[in-house]
Amino acid sequence: MATDFPLHVVAFGRPGSGKSSVAERLGEAHGFAMVRTGALLRDAVRKGDSLGQQVESLLKAGQLVPDDLAYEVLARDLSTLRHNRLLFDGFPRTLGQVPLLDRLQAAVGFTIDRYVEIAVSADEALRRMSGRRVCPTCGATYHVTNNPPKADGVCDHDGTPLTRRSDDTPEVLRVRQSVYDNRTGPVVDHYRQTFPNRFLLINGEQSFDAVSSDLERALGLAP
Ligand code: ADP
Repeated sequence: MATDFPLHVVAFGRPGSGKSSVAERLGEAHGFAMVRTGALLRDAVRKGDSLGQQVESLLKAGQLVPDDLAYEVLARDLSTLRHNRLLFDGFPRTLGQVPLLDRLQAAVGFTIDRYVEIAVSADEALRRMSGRRVCPTCGATYHVTNNPPKADGVCDHDGTPLTRRSDDTPEVLRVRQSVYDNRTGPVVDHYRQTFPNRFLLINGEQSFDAVSSDLERALGLAP
């Protein structure tokens, strides 16, 4: 039986790297609380609260929201961050957010143990994203061929018909790739250089199962 040792992980990967699906599986298998800024921001848009209204058009255009709002959506629920296994999916995404993660670590009292990059080329990422589907109710993500739901077109968890995200149109996909290269690439470089012993590079150009098990092994969660 696996021991539940504490583990705090930040996952990086360009849109289409499979990062969120792999993170979701890891979270379910090993008891990670997920910290997904993108999902939290989309929730705020769905609810139509004041933060949601401020970020709606940016999300739709594939642009990042301002750093202080990305922080605000996380700081709304600090209790999630007190979990002894945490997986950050989508934060930090700019160099300006690096000190904000430091602030969260100090405020809540945890340390990031591992920074993980799921690496795929921009071309492969674009190919994959055209097959992505999401559950509008619970936010679970699927892929028509790489990670299909058990029953065609409906969510495994709640049976809701799956849809495409509004920021998954071809033009917006291209914008999101260049936003990743220009804004998040430097963040990945920063952690690779600052914490070489905490940095893990995973080859994302393999099957979903192979990426998941490489990640489990790299994190010491599987032999
Ligand atoms: P993906 O990783 O596939 O782009 P996400 O669900 O992580 O999808 O993010 C969706 C959108 O949410 C981003 O395009 C951006 O507009 C916004 N977003 C998410 N996280 C952040 C963040 N840390 N800083 C700024 N904007 C963010």
